[in-house]
Amino acid sequence: MTMLCPRCESESIDVVAKSPVAGCWEVFFCLTCKFTWRSSEPRSIVDPVQYHPAFKVRWEDIEHAIIVPAIPERSSKSVSRQ
Ligand SMILES: [Zn+2]
Repeated sequence: MTMLCPRCESESIDVVAKSPVAGCWEVFFCLTCKFTWRSSEPRSIVDPVQYHPAFKVRWEDIEHAIIVPAIPERSSKSVSRQ
C-alpha cells in the first residue's frame, strides 16, 4: 500500500527520522506541501481519510500560496555597520 501525505495526499514522501529504539516511530516529510508528521500521532493526523478537511491542501493551490509573513520591501536607506 502506498503511503500518502495526510494533508495533500501526495505520494512524494521522505522518511526524515527514526526512533532511537528501532520500530517505535518514524518522522515523514511531504515533498509537495512540506507537511511533517510522526507515525505515532493520532489517526486524525496520519490518516488522509481522517485528516480534518479544513486543513487539507490542494496541489494546485500550493504554487499560489502567499508567503507568511510577507517579506517587506527593501529599504531605500542604507544601514551603516559599525
Ligand atoms: Zn503533502
